[in-house]
Amino acid sequence: MTPLLLQRGLKTTKLVIGTPTRTLLTADFGSLPPPYPFALTLPQNETEAVLRERLAALGGHMEWGCELLGVTQDANGVDTVIRCADGNREVRARYLVGADGYHSKVRETLSVTFRAGTYPVSVMLGDVRMSWPYPDNEDCFYLVDGGGF
Ligand SMILES: Cc1cc2nc3c(=O)[nH]c(=O)nc-3n(C[C@H](O)[C@H](O)[C@H](O)COP(=O)(O)OP(=O)(O)OC[C@H]3O[C@@H](n4cnc5c(N)ncnc54)[C@H](O)[C@@H]3O)c2cc1C
Repeated sequence: MTPLLLQRGLKTTKLVIGTPTRTLLTADFGSLPPPYPFALTLPQNETEAVLRERLAALGGHMEWGCELLGVTQDANGVDTVIRCADGNREVRARYLVGADGYHSKVRETLSVTFRAGTYPVSVMLGDVRMSWPYPDNEDCFYLVDGGGF
């Protein structure tokens, strides 16, 4: 884990699951072996910023809004077709890292199957500032009426 992530993240040492009035389960991350006896929480934009800074320090840069259309490979590398704002490009590289998520084009190209399912629930994600009566070093999940967290 990079020192920058450790600096920017919130370290939590305890997980609490319960209802607003009753604790159902606690887990103590503090008993995990060093050097990381905690969960590190930080917003995705912060994580991406740290990764971008590291990439820039290594001499690379990000190109946004490009889509991988196709891949072929041989013994020495991969040939890709990528659609960007200025049109299609062919890029040859020694390696291709497939980090393209659930509907992965890379996995599809390699015929790698992925067993997945969907949950019959809706999820709402909020990134908010709020007053909080509980300790800052606890991850809390509360079950509320209707079954949500
Ligand atoms: C509401 C919600 C809350 C979650 N909360 C948590 C949590 O608290 N903790 C946790 O661990 N996980 C959580 N997850 C799960 C987590 O977000 C995923 O497991 C994780 O994002 C998967 O990362 P990934 O990099 O594999 O794929 P993704 O994050 O899906 O990234 C794939 C990227 O590839 C790009 N891409 C796809 N196809 C192509 C293509 N052909 N060419 C170019 N680019 C392409 C996509 O645009 C995307 O940017 C949550 C998920 C959701 C939906």
